[in-house]
Amino acid sequence: MSTEIRTNSLARTAAELAAVTRMLESMNILSYSGHIAVRVPERNAIMIQRRTDSRAELSPDRMLLVDYDGKVIEGDGKPPSETVIHLEAFKARPDVMASIHSHMELAIAFTMMEGVQLLPMRARATRWKSGIPTHPDPSHIKHVAQGQELAATLGAHHVALMRAHGILLVAESLPALFIDAIHFEENAQAQMQVLQAGAKPKPLSDKEIEQILKLEDRPHHIGKLWNYYIRKGIGSGTVEADWNLLAA
Ligand SMILES: [Zn+2]
Repeated sequence: MSTEIRTNSLARTAAELAAVTRMLESMNILSYSGHIAVRVPERNAIMIQRRTDSRAELSPDRMLLVDYDGKVIEGDGKPPSETVIHLEAFKARPDVMASIHSHMELAIAFTMMEGVQLLPMRARATRWKSGIPTHPDPSHIKHVAQGQELAATLGAHHVALMRAHGILLVAESLPALFIDAIHFEENAQAQMQVLQAGAKPKPLSDKEIEQILKLEDRPHHIGKLWNYYIRKGIGSGTVEADWNLLAA
């Protein structure tokens, strides 16, 4: 019986991982590369897609389990070449359950402008009130030491930009990660629009952030948007209805 429960729980995680990846690909937050990982505590491993599987067509039954040394312990095939990004972030941050590495163009643009810092602009950007650091290494992250350095840049924050390369964003669950990735993109878009208008960005003040957070119900917000996007994904064919991902 316990085996069945474990299998069901892993199947649900795999379906969420496939759905979140496909939806973020359809929104151009992921593209032909970039990937999402989720912690699987009962196996002391992470779940991640195969290196060469299309982000637009991921299937739950093709996911891999990879241990914290980077070894595939379940499934056939190789994990993405930058899997160490997730492994080292998870090792450094026990509170993190899910992570995305993407080459989001808008976020990359903010690592290529002198004297401009991406800031919490929109009301949903309070998540990044502690800061949005930029990791200075623009190369692909393939070695453990590089992953550790990126995790150090991330520190206790929920996101790190990677100079001329992309982002690492972390959250407490796959649905939370999905919603945060959308809001992160919206916030970067908002600041870019202000800059394009030739104006000086006026980010949220500490007082405003405090005001917003007093009324924020993060689990409710995540649940509401999750159902909205899963329904939309089923309608467009991005998400399979029989993955049963709608909340009750
Ligand atoms: Zn990358």
